[in-house]
Amino acid sequence: TWNDERTSAALTGDQAAHLARVLRAQPGQIFDVVAGGFLHRAEVTAVRDDQVTFALHEEREVDNALPIHLLIAVFKFDHLEWAIEKATELGVSRITPVLARRTEKHLAQASAKRVERWRRIAHEAAQQSRRSDVPRIDDAQPLAAALATVDAARRILLAETEEQNTLRNALATSDAEQAIALAIGPEGGWTADEMKKFSDEGWQHVTLGPRILRAETAAIAALAITGAHLT
Ligand code: SAM
Repeated sequence: TWNDERTSAALTGDQAAHLARVLRAQPGQIFDVVAGGFLHRAEVTAVRDDQVTFALHEEREVDNALPIHLLIAVFKFDHLEWAIEKATELGVSRITPVLARRTEKHLAQASAKRVERWRRIAHEAAQQSRRSDVPRIDDAQPLAAALATVDAARRILLAETEEQNTLRNALATSDAEQAIALAIGPEGGWTADEMKKFSDEGWQHVTLGPRILRAETAAIAALAITGAHLT
């Protein structure tokens, strides 16, 4: 929390405890603090176990999220969590986990209980990469519902298809300000039925090349290529 004039701020809870006990913050130390879309140079003024207060100096507006909405099928949780962390570092604005036809049943059933963990991972990755915001992580949902969350005009499905159009070529026809939605399938790929659903909703099918990538690798590669186009 910070005061109206944005001259001082207080950190409470776990983050204060971490700063006080683990990082042993001392009055006079300077940190970079990202709050409410601003990056401040912040000088520690007082340290307690449950609260650290700062005097805020220079401020600079930061907006380092990219207008990318990622639909990602639910697959092995440790791989999916890695993808959520890296996607956050790469600037994604929103992630919608999809219960795809080839999402393993036990993973689909366990998804509802994992969302809080996914949100925590995104939160920590956003802090670590000094993002001004935390990406929105939706509840895991079936494809039809996930498609309905997308408002980006440009929609790109990553799939192994006959289609030889590459992501890079597809992006060449969209301007650098335009919001983009990307979709990555599960380890077994999208079914023909799902691919048709995407097409019906105006999604363009593209390839990342002749090598089959693990789903999480495909997500990171697609985000890096799209990010390079947008920044
Ligand atoms: N045999 C599966 C299939 O038929 O789609 C392979 C799925 S791949 C391991 C998992 C997901 O990563 C795919 O659904 C797709 O979204 C993405 N992917 C992997 N390699 C890709 C490539 N070369 N081009 C486009 N997407 C790719």
